[in-house]
Amino acid sequence: TTDYGPSRPDRSNLGLNPEACRSIWVKVTNNLQQVLRAEDTLARMGGDEFVVILSDIGTPEECTLILDRILAAARQTVVLEGHPPIQISASVGVSLYPADNADPDTLLRHADQAMYLAKQAGKNRYQLFDPEIDRQAQLHRLQLEWLRQALLQRQFVLFYQPKVDLINGQVLGVEALIRWQHPTQGLLAPGAFLPYVQGSELEQHLGEWVIETALAQATVWRQSGLHMQVSVNISANHLLQPGFCQQLGAALARHPDVAPDQFELEVLETAAISDMAQAAAILHQCKALGVKFALDDFGTGYSSLTYLRKLPVDTLKIDQSFVRDMLTDSDDLGIVEGVIRLANAFQRHVIAEGVETLAHGTALRELGCRFAQGYGIAKPMAAEQIPTWCATWALEPRP
Ligand code: C2E
Ligand code: CA
Ligand code: CA
Repeated sequence: TTDYGPSRPDRSNLGLNPEACRSIWVKVTNNLQQVLRAEDTLARMGGDEFVVILSDIGTPEECTLILDRILAAARQTVVLEGHPPIQISASVGVSLYPADNADPDTLLRHADQAMYLAKQAGKNRYQLFDPEIDRQAQLHRLQLEWLRQALLQRQFVLFYQPKVDLINGQVLGVEALIRWQHPTQGLLAPGAFLPYVQGSELEQHLGEWVIETALAQATVWRQSGLHMQVSVNISANHLLQPGFCQQLGAALARHPDVAPDQFELEVLETAAISDMAQAAAILHQCKALGVKFALDDFGTGYSSLTYLRKLPVDTLKIDQSFVRDMLTDSDDLGIVEGVIRLANAFQRHVIAEGVETLAHGTALRELGCRFAQGYGIAKPMAAEQIPTWCATWALEPRP
């Protein structure tokens, strides 16, 4: 399939009156016909879309030659009396029979997809349909659909991982971490399904579910006398959605037993934030509700310093990739130290994640990082286990 044109809403009229426009397409069609063989078929599908059926193509080279000829023909300047000369460009998508599929509708759809890629790649070019890209896209759609169903069927659960104070041993709070209780595959970690959600509408719905569920859980704990901060992870995409703050305010209002300053949002994928002023405005607006913010995975990505300076966050969370090797890798130790100093300089709290051993905890405390979270303290667990864990932890001897 071939698609022409400067991209404006209705590309097919080329900004001309219908009569002139018709003449142009007739001329373009003639130009195309010149380079096609007798056995080929050329059809205008309407608008600026053409379909060419090339038969008996023996080799990829032969195909390339014809496509180059088609592109060149399409580029020819068209002259219409009383108008300035017009030059248009074409984007060509190609599907091959029988490699791509046997049924005509699918072949057309594949050619269309490829044409879209040709257009994205900068027009005036052709693109062969790639079955692998198509397979991926289909899988992605399918996964999203399953995830949508999973949300409706309440298959997601939140696990909670404690955060503690390394100096006095107190439990600071817990971080909610999503899991998918899959009907056949068992409990799935977010790495297995969140990537499919990224950038989709579902990302927001799932994020809202997380906030709602964590607040409901915090209410239960609070009513049973367990006071602690509850944190949720929030994707930058979701945070930047219009109305985020209103939604958050409404959710907090539905759970009046939870003090807003006991609710924290860990902002993920800050690298995805392109409009810093907008992000800062949203954070300020949310902070007026009383909630706290942390920058998650701090130290990864490139612009962490800008985020730190511009965004009103309370806490930096040192990424576990640095914490893990800090005892053996002096570069990672340097980063950990650097983030701790940075947090001090900017008067932010700092917490280390991925604290796997007592030695890590001790080293962090000596470096001035007071708060920690990690398998060495506790793994993420079901909400029901948290009260018992807290009670047991309180009895543990401190180093
Ligand atoms: P994260 O926010 O950086 O969370 C920390 C991850 O490290 C969690 O993995 C946690 O289980 C794991 N972890 C904690 N302590 C240790 C440790 O000592 N050693 C090691 N090796 N790992 C540790 P999990 O639960 O698989 O979550 C992975 C990521 O998925 C999270 O990274 C977060 O980015 C995302 N995520 C989790 N829950 C949610 C959610 O509700 N919403 C959104 N948007 N993202 C979420
Ligand atoms: Ca987190
Ligand atoms: Ca992390």
